[in-house]
Amino acid sequence: MANYSDIIGHEDIVRHFKSSIELGKVSHAYILNGEKGVGKKTLAAVVAKSLQCETGEPDPCGKCHSCLQAESGNQPDIIWVTHEKANTLSVEEVRTQIVNDIDLKPYSSRYKIYIVPDSQLMTPQAQNALLKTLEEPPEYAVIMLLTNNVDKFLPTVLSRCIVLNFKPVEPLDMIDYLMTNLQVDQDKARFCTDFAQGNLGKAVRLAISPDYNEIREDSIRLLRSIPDMEMEDIIQAVKNMGKYKLDITDYIDIMTMWFRDILMVKISNSPNKIIFKKEFSVMKKQASHTSYEGLEEIITALDKLKVRLEANVNFDIAMELMLLTIKENIQ
Ligand SMILES: [Zn+2]
Repeated sequence: MANYSDIIGHEDIVRHFKSSIELGKVSHAYILNGEKGVGKKTLAAVVAKSLQCETGEPDPCGKCHSCLQAESGNQPDIIWVTHEKANTLSVEEVRTQIVNDIDLKPYSSRYKIYIVPDSQLMTPQAQNALLKTLEEPPEYAVIMLLTNNVDKFLPTVLSRCIVLNFKPVEPLDMIDYLMTNLQVDQDKARFCTDFAQGNLGKAVRLAISPDYNEIREDSIRLLRSIPDMEMEDIIQAVKNMGKYKLDITDYIDIMTMWFRDILMVKISNSPNKIIFKKEFSVMKKQASHTSYEGLEEIITALDKLKVRLEANVNFDIAMELMLLTIKENIQ
């Protein structure tokens, strides 16, 4: 299991927790807000381990009974709240796992820690059930609500929690992590880092995908020929990519990288700062057939497409609109 040294980026959040532990000023309720894959669970697990470490130091010792239990996932006073249904965390689940449990004193540790992944899935009723606990928590209680959308909380819940926002990880830190810990070469590390836009989990997912080369090649093949393709061909080509186990939005991100590269080629007329270096000549050609406004329009359309696909709109229609925008802007 991880330690503080395994957390890449998020120095401000780590510092916050370490100094709270050192000063003995740990709060009862935190919201850890950041997109999926950014490292919320890892960080929560490390913080929980350090809070419970028998040494009382801000850094967990890794040797005491509590640390060993935490590492094997059997620390009885670190409770990971679960939910049955994929899209909701019900009032019953909050009651049985938190509200009705929290008054029982810690089994063996100083704190009783509840970690709630996907807490944005709490229904308003579930949040209201939690509210009383947040208003008058037992002194030993620490509740960590992990979420990718802080806007889903009722203002009454929000106002009783310390909100810590995860910022994107710096590109250089990410490249360094991928090269050192996953032994990927620099070219691949750069590609995955640019793809991930500050989200380490996403970079790792692509870097360790056994289909990395195919994904990259397929995307390039599509993007090279997009201006000359018919609609049905394009839709089929994108659908074919579904055979790899990435999200469909991941391909949108690769497409966005492509067009950001073209924008860079148009500005600098050099392959130095681009990700798809080997495609420089194709990019130069596409760059000469489009305007700055056109490229901006394409990149905006890709952003919108991603939002639409995340909202589960019809794939073909959303894709069609986007590809029309591309074709209109690359003549
Ligand atoms: Zn320890």
